[in-house]
Amino acid sequence: MIFPDCRADLALRDGYHSPQVDVAVRLNTNESPYPPPEGWRRDLASAIENVEFNRYPDRAATRLREALAGLHQVRPDQVFVANGSNEVLQSICLAYGGPGRRAAVYEPTYALHSHIAHLSSTEVVQGTRRDDFSVDVDQVADVTAAARPDITFLCSPNNPTGNALPAVSAAEILELSPGLVVLDEAYGDFADWSAISMVDDEVPLVVTRTFSKTWSMAALRLGYLIGPARVVASLERVALPYHLDALKQIAGRLAVAYGDEMRRRVAAIVSERRRLQGALENLDVDVWPSEANFLLFRPKSRKGDEVWHGLVDRGVLVRNTSNWPSLPAGCLRVTVGTGTENDAFLSALEETL
Ligand SMILES: *Cc1c(COP(=O)(O)O)cnc(C)c1O
Repeated sequence: MIFPDCRADLALRDGYHSPQVDVAVRLNTNESPYPPPEGWRRDLASAIENVEFNRYPDRAATRLREALAGLHQVRPDQVFVANGSNEVLQSICLAYGGPGRRAAVYEPTYALHSHIAHLSSTEVVQGTRRDDFSVDVDQVADVTAAARPDITFLCSPNNPTGNALPAVSAAEILELSPGLVVLDEAYGDFADWSAISMVDDEVPLVVTRTFSKTWSMAALRLGYLIGPARVVASLERVALPYHLDALKQIAGRLAVAYGDEMRRRVAAIVSERRRLQGALENLDVDVWPSEANFLLFRPKSRKGDEVWHGLVDRGVLVRNTSNWPSLPAGCLRVTVGTGTENDAFLSALEETL
């Protein structure tokens, strides 16, 4: 049998993977270490009783969008929801990218921005961050003037480095961008400010958020975007009919009522992050400041790869970013876990070093 080939340009691209290893302490994918609130589980269980499973769900996800609009003090027509914020990013690339169009990224940053752009045949224009991982607005101005990107991706706090984009830089970049500016705030709840306050129907800015990190609901696959109503309308054109199932719409809507519990979790993680940062500063590693729920660090006298293996041997999995082309060689990224998990990580690291 002769088999058809898939698109030739896909052969060059590996799918996106974070290798899972069966260990006790998993600190590699930036999820919340806490389960979601008990009350939410109960609400969800009883709401499921009333789902009309024989019917398609509400295509407009009306009640979920109303709840999210209330949470962020915007209008429901300024909210787009999808199956994880990665699907939001994909919808952006489908609607605003595509053949003959360009997306700008500033590395090192979230790998999925360029990956999804490539998948949608959007040309990727790559700028670089400064040595301290801050975005150089002058460089953004140069890249933008030369390439006229249709989409500019920014991430704040930035994955995998942890630093946030200052509000002034966001405003300056918005000012000079000819296309859509996408601020990925997957970790926005951990940071001091959010660009959601800058969203306006007349400003080409969208902010993406997810239930995967702060909300303790990574299994749900729910993400959303806050942006101008006309952008939301364009994204709805590329979404498949009934793309958001009924259970997800209910689960997300019910979650919004647990904002206080979410903020308590965020506060606990931020305080653990500070403790972890302090402890790492006393070990033989460089560690970068972070406003997210993870820390980027680099062993000073050992290879990153060796340290990663040493940690796995001791039952602790962190993200092996040691060979990422845009990061300094030998970096590793650790998600902030529970106090017990962080202690396990610290003692495994100390032994390995
Ligand atoms: C984890 C992450 C996402 C993915 O979110 P999902 O909602 O789980 O798809 C998006 N952006 C960044 C920067 C992330 O780190």
